[in-house]
Amino acid sequence: MVKRADTKLRDYQQDLIAETVEALRDHRSVLLQAPTGAGKTEMAVEIARRHQDKIVWFTCHRHEIVAQTSVTLKRAGVDAHGVVAPRYREDPTIRIQVCSIDALRHRLDRYPPPDLIILDECHHVAAPSWARLVESFPQAKLLGLTATPERLDGRGLKDWFEHMIVGPNTHTLIDEGYLSKFKYFAPTIPDMRGVRVKLKEYDRHDLEGAMNKSTLVGDIVDHFKEKLAPNARALAFCVSVDASRELAARFTEAGIPAKHVDWETTQEKRDEAVADLASGKIRVLTNREVFSEGLDLPAIDAVLLLRPTKSFALYRQMIGRCLRVAKGKPYTTILDHAGLIFDHEFPDNDVEWSLTGRRSGVAETHKQYSTHGMIRRCPECSAVHKWSAKCPECGYVYQINDRTIEEVYGELRDITQGAEYESQKRFARRCRLGRTALANYVARKELVTYGPRCLIKIAEGLARVEWLRENEAKYESQSRFAHRFRVSGTTVYDWIKKGLPINEHRQIPVDAGLRWVKAWRRRSSTISGFDAQSRFAKRVGVHRTTVHKWIKKGLPINELGQISVEDGLAWLKREGLLKDGKYIYQKPQSTPGFDTQRRFAKRIGVHRRIVDNWIKEGMPTGKSKLIPVDAALRWVQENRPQRQPDQGVAGGAVREAAE
Ligand SMILES: [Zn+2]
Repeated sequence: MVKRADTKLRDYQQDLIAETVEALRDHRSVLLQAPTGAGKTEMAVEIARRHQDKIVWFTCHRHEIVAQTSVTLKRAGVDAHGVVAPRYREDPTIRIQVCSIDALRHRLDRYPPPDLIILDECHHVAAPSWARLVESFPQAKLLGLTATPERLDGRGLKDWFEHMIVGPNTHTLIDEGYLSKFKYFAPTIPDMRGVRVKLKEYDRHDLEGAMNKSTLVGDIVDHFKEKLAPNARALAFCVSVDASRELAARFTEAGIPAKHVDWETTQEKRDEAVADLASGKIRVLTNREVFSEGLDLPAIDAVLLLRPTKSFALYRQMIGRCLRVAKGKPYTTILDHAGLIFDHEFPDNDVEWSLTGRRSGVAETHKQYSTHGMIRRCPECSAVHKWSAKCPECGYVYQINDRTIEEVYGELRDITQGAEYESQKRFARRCRLGRTALANYVARKELVTYGPRCLIKIAEGLARVEWLRENEAKYESQSRFAHRFRVSGTTVYDWIKKGLPINEHRQIPVDAGLRWVKAWRRRSSTISGFDAQSRFAKRVGVHRTTVHKWIKKGLPINELGQISVEDGLAWLKREGLLKDGKYIYQKPQSTPGFDTQRRFAKRIGVHRRIVDNWIKEGMPTGKSKLIPVDAALRWVQENRPQRQPDQGVAGGAVREAAE
């Protein structure tokens, strides 16, 4: 018997559930994003409940989380569910199963195939065990849940999900009282000189060295006493298991009872530690990553961030876990000893999620610089707050020569992590890559570029190239491989039949795969639906060099430099360069009353660059930057009398335009 339970759900949860159920009808795979603390598990459980005539697998990436999910299901009235995890008796006849991915993958053949697979914390979806599960049941619907829909390297999940539903953002949930307000302090600025960045994350070994200095540990205890109320309870995220154990000992020594847990801690001990924190028997619970990974926590007063990370997802998760609201808790205190505020934005800043990734790279960096301009750190009390003339915590009035947040952090950071950029040419030489190979990485957005000159951030680029080199030698899924060439999965399937190598999991060895496709392509000239660049140029009636220019601007090409006809034409259309299948600039004379910039410059006898400047100043332009001659001449006369062309030319021009 199933009881109705959705009345307990919050309004936004009910909306998201309805939207998700609907989306699952239209799409094979749906991703539901909502911030930590928004109640994703409750929503998923309700969605599972509404599919109870189907076979639903609710998969967790750690079997520790299975028990917790099972409890949530019971609370929602779904008593009849099986559990696939160590030490649970299995019953494949039950329709809803809560599964630990590790236990499940060894028992797949014992269970009837699922209709719906729910992936909790689905940013792990690229992990081999998950990927295999998803690929084994191509007929099952897929629902992914996460607060941070991106992989550790910051890339999006579009290879796995067709459609994404984005939940309310953190600050809305704070405003509506579902999450706690917070105060942010950055009491210590870690000395990060010499800490290298590899694969978009700080090198673990370097980091442990930097964060284990005993002065830092002393600082943490002192600031805890100073900043927090005498009975406040906190969760601490440390850089390593050893550091976590050490910190718990130091707190206990200082008269503040503390405990440490890690994944080796038995479930009973871990539950006990959490209960002790809830009851106030201990005041600090230290861990490395146990609680950033989805385990339930009581409402606590503070979070100690002692683990620098480049991962935006991890940053949001660590803080998100501690923003639970409770009676008598006015706000959460965040004590950032790890310089996270420098690497990431304010914890409740809006994020634009999409399946192709958070608008990272260009947008992120620019935004970061501008938001840093908007953030201040009080030199008196170390509060970090949005820009204001006075510190909202202690009332300190800022002086003109107070340092900016970049200056505060900058000097204790190594230049190799700083914003050092170079041209693609220089960078290619630095990492001994061919320039075409590099350009391909850029075109495929494997490498992020910055600014109008498309510069590469050296440290980030090196880490990325290192990653690419390592991973290109390996295997990848058919869908990912298809994406490299921008062809469909069916095409790859077809290639496999023609001899594209695969391994026993039907994954493609990338190196050998690329070689095969190249050779095959030589044999069969082009992939159907694709044009060589010269052919595409002919198709739309331009010179090849124009196509090169477009590629630099973003016209999509595949690994072989070919252009998908459909995508290519769509791109041109989006850019407003296409009319009736032909390039619009082809016959400028055929648009009466309009000039190209070059022609207009010639018409009135000025340099092209001047016309360019005028356009910036407001001279009217039409579609595709064509210039309406009459209106533009009027504008020049009204706004630029000193540059007005002599009568003869202008008169001639007007006459010509009137023809
Ligand atoms: Zn202050």
